[in-house]
Amino acid sequence: MTYISYILADATGHIATPEPASYTMENGGAPARLLYAEDYPVIAVCKVCGGTIKLDHKTQMEWRHVPIKAARPAPPGDDK
Ligand SMILES: [Zn+2]
Repeated sequence: MTYISYILADATGHIATPEPASYTMENGGAPARLLYAEDYPVIAVCKVCGGTIKLDHKTQMEWRHVPIKAARPAPPGDDK
């Protein structure tokens, strides 16, 4: 573990790393666009542990783990 990863790791012991294409708006569950402030807070699936991670603001640099459940957005055409 490098020094910087030690600094960034939270209580889970690893850095919250979002899985690509797992970004969803916390309010509503629609796919989130990280470039748009109105889509925040954004939640995603942690690639390391499968837990839920969150960005509160567009200006927040690091994801953090949160004790809520996230799911990947349903793929287009899947109405269930
Ligand atoms: Zn994790």
